[in-house]
Amino acid sequence: MDFNKIKAMGLEYAEKGKNAAMDLAEKGKTQALLVNEQGKLLKAQRQLGALVYSLAKGKEENQPLVDKYIEMIDTIEQEITRLKATLTPAEATEVDYEAPMEEAEETAPEQPAQPARKTCPQCGAPVSDDALFCNKCGAQL
Ligand SMILES: [Zn+2]
Repeated sequence: MDFNKIKAMGLEYAEKGKNAAMDLAEKGKTQALLVNEQGKLLKAQRQLGALVYSLAKGKEENQPLVDKYIEMIDTIEQEITRLKATLTPAEATEVDYEAPMEEAEETAPEQPAQPARKTCPQCGAPVSDDALFCNKCGAQL
C-alpha cells in the first residue's frame, strides 16, 4: 500500500469521525432544545391553569387571553413533536426522563404572597413574575 492510499484512508476515517461527532453534537443540541421546549410547555400549562382558576374564582371570562395560552401551548407542542421526530424513540424518551422541571419547582420553597414587582410594559398593570401574558391587556410579556 503506498503512502497516498494510507493518507487518503486516514483522511477518510478522520472525516467519518468528525461527522459522527457533529451528529452527536447536533443530537445533544436537539435534546437541549427539547428540554427547553418542555420546560416552556409546563410553564405555559401552569400559567393557563392558574389563569383559568383565577378567572373562574372571580367569575370572570377572558377567552382571548385563554386562547393566547392555548395557541402558545399548541405551538410549543408542535415544536416538541418536530424536535422528537429528529431523534430516535430512545433518545426522545431519555429527554423526557431528564426533564424533571416541574418536580424541581414543586420542591422549591413556596414564596410568601407578595405584591407583584413586575408590570406589563404595555399597560403597566402588575403581572405575576412568571406570567406569559398580561392578564389585563393580553400583551405577551
Ligand atoms: Zn398589559
